[in-house]
Amino acid sequence: MEKSQYSGPVCEFETAGPCGIVIFGASGDLTSRKLIPALFELYVRRRIPDNFFIAGVARSALDTETFREVVENAVDRGVRNIKPGQKQGFIKRCYYLSGQYDDDSTYRELKDLTGTLAGKYETGGNIIFNIATPPNLYKVIVSKLGTNSLVEKGQNKDPFQRIIVEKPFGTDLETAQDLNSFFLEHLSEDQIYRIDHYLGKDTVQNILAFRFANLIFENVWNRNYIDHVQITVSEKLGVGHRAGYFDQAGLVRDMLQNHMLQLLSLVAMEAPAKFDAELIRDEKVKVMRAIRPFTGVSYPSTILRGQYKEGEVEGEKISAYRKEQGVKKNSSTETYFAAKLFIDNSRWEGVPFYLRAGKALKEKKTQISVIFKEVPHSMFVDDIKENPLEPNVLTFGIQPQQGVFLKYQAKVPGSKMCIYPLQMNFNYADYYGVELSDDYETLLLDCMVGDQTLFWSKKGIEKSWALITPLLQEWEKSNYDNKKVKLFFYKAGSTGPREADRMIENDNRKWILS
Ligand code: NDP
Repeated sequence: MEKSQYSGPVCEFETAGPCGIVIFGASGDLTSRKLIPALFELYVRRRIPDNFFIAGVARSALDTETFREVVENAVDRGVRNIKPGQKQGFIKRCYYLSGQYDDDSTYRELKDLTGTLAGKYETGGNIIFNIATPPNLYKVIVSKLGTNSLVEKGQNKDPFQRIIVEKPFGTDLETAQDLNSFFLEHLSEDQIYRIDHYLGKDTVQNILAFRFANLIFENVWNRNYIDHVQITVSEKLGVGHRAGYFDQAGLVRDMLQNHMLQLLSLVAMEAPAKFDAELIRDEKVKVMRAIRPFTGVSYPSTILRGQYKEGEVEGEKISAYRKEQGVKKNSSTETYFAAKLFIDNSRWEGVPFYLRAGKALKEKKTQISVIFKEVPHSMFVDDIKENPLEPNVLTFGIQPQQGVFLKYQAKVPGSKMCIYPLQMNFNYADYYGVELSDDYETLLLDCMVGDQTLFWSKKGIEKSWALITPLLQEWEKSNYDNKKVKLFFYKAGSTGPREADRMIENDNRKWILS
């Protein structure tokens, strides 16, 4: 990696205050792959203090000693460049409690354990309960925390008691509303941190900085200058070990409802008066309210679903989705979708937002491209209609390319006046000379310092479900061979169904990097 070219101020939170973290589902994949490495990095970088402990809770018959081995393995696998002696201080702060999630005795024991650890590590009673279990356990855990007095509604200061809850938060509007009402019986909204890990990414947060800290782009950020916007989330992986869950959920629930609507609202929102969690979250809700409903849309010209067939990704064979273990043989679950959305407000009236996402595709790429209008006249070409100049394209690379890229026209060196598009690239890693921090690091630290900006609000999550629930209902009642909402098959390793290309080509546009 190149040396940093950056000479500005250090941009880190000060160390979070003392606190304990209880992880439900501590024997699981998310804990080992994401939470433990993120907490370790924060601890090593002194973003969390010595007054800190982790208590893992799950049914698996581990004890503190064996859990510490799990923690050590997770650190070894998930963290690079560990220096000698760094692990021990962290590992010895990890404890484990085995118990059933619906059994009061688990919570009585947990209360004793966290009470003892709070004294030992002088955390002042500040505590975060991170619910990293399958979603069907969210309710019982919150209810038992409430009835066993581990959390008290409104207790968000001296000491704070907060809950981090994973996605998916609900499976449709009704279940999300139900979950919200249930949580709010035991907690106040400022104690609830609903995760969308995309929001923890610097590249995603940079969309706001880029738009609202620079005058030059804000002035052209509207229907007068922007032709359309594209948001692409393309993955090379199939569904793998998550097949059972995925076959119930589908990609619209897994991607569109949360990550992609968040990305869209960051691109489309108005600037609030202050960088304030509530104000920012409210502006995003306003965007979601203004998205034209999916009811009565035409298929497949406005929205379509697809599913992968057998194929190859980078030389590796991928079996058809329907042959994956845990997937129904005639499943109509979508592993791909493409949609054309409109935001009915004065900034965006008539500007299409094309969204597409898929699994088992040729490329791994998450990016947002803002495609500007073509110049109306040019002195460089005789007939602009016959020889249009390629328009400016501003791309936010979220992953794996992380940065901002601007395509613009430039003169080619030489005696003749030739115009050809160039790309101006800003790449995070090259410029700052560091790997961007992991999204979970940012989110866990934000919860510790009490900043909800990067988490879903109640209103936001309900609005996003309100938007997509009618679509899901229509798809669920229609078989895969239903003519109106047909399921289009595509080969694993391809760029998706041909019909998705037609969707945009029928509007005389094309996917960027398709
Ligand atoms: P796991 O399936 O690994 O489950 C976590 C733990 O929950 C398991 O170790 C198990 O512990 C317990 N558990 C699992 N199934 C049941 C069950 N049927 N009844 C009771 N307990 C059960 O989940 P992940 O760690 O992968 O994910 C946790 C949460 O995070 C989920 O809500 C998931 O949607 C979300 N998430 C996960 C991501 C990931 O990358 N893994 C990404 C995004 C979100 P034990 O048996 O010991 O009690």
